[in-house]
Amino acid sequence: MNAAFAHTDRAYVLTRVDYAEADRIVTFLCDRLGKISVRARGARKSHKRFGGALELFSLVEISVQKGRAGRLELTEARLMEDHRAIGADLTRFHSACFVLSLTKTLAGDEAAAAALFRLLDEALRALCRASGSSCTTVELGFAASALEVLGTGIISDRCAVCASRLPPNRRAFFEPGRGGVVCRACGGGSMILTASTLEVLRRLSSASLEELACAFVDEDAVSQLESAVKSFIEYHVDHGSRRAGHPAQIRSNIARARRDV
Ligand SMILES: [Zn+2]
Repeated sequence: MNAAFAHTDRAYVLTRVDYAEADRIVTFLCDRLGKISVRARGARKSHKRFGGALELFSLVEISVQKGRAGRLELTEARLMEDHRAIGADLTRFHSACFVLSLTKTLAGDEAAAAALFRLLDEALRALCRASGSSCTTVELGFAASALEVLGTGIISDRCAVCASRLPPNRRAFFEPGRGGVVCRACGGGSMILTASTLEVLRRLSSASLEELACAFVDEDAVSQLESAVKSFIEYHVDHGSRRAGHPAQIRSNIARARRDV
């Protein structure tokens, strides 16, 4: 970024923090610029200033430039799509909050930011159409794809330890610290996933988020899968972030975890 830095990009708001008397510091995930934090002068004093375009879940077009002391400032924000259907349903809203929170953590990895923007866009569009447990399936599908982007995907098609193919229609162990599903011979996983849960887990990486929003899924399988995927995130992302302070470190954390078992 140089002194003449001025750009227009599509973006989603990740966080907003009040600053000084009338401003906000807004963190965006942008299509091309990745994750940026900008000062939105006057955002709290006048709603008209940015036309209500700084709401969570809304797709906006923003213009930013470098201000005094080289800090980025928001010069314009135009609402493109408000995805209002998310706020109209509590289940969708909860899933969208999870998606946004995970994006915020993972978007620290600059190399992954552009792919994460596309996934976030896809997830919020899918959530506008999802209902009930399908919201959770979209949320988990987003998490699985986002982890894949970071190179830390959940291994579900073979044993994470010995790489052998798992027999179809059989339950299997799941061990977050080993990277995913573990066969009976390697054994010792902390969770056991039923055959139908394993089927949904595999579908998370093969189906689009839009397909997941419309697909019928067994509620018990979704609930079991939710525990498995969130344990995986807790182990590799939350734990990794606390230890290393930066999500870029997650890749080496998981590589180390897999070497150590
Ligand atoms: Zn094995």
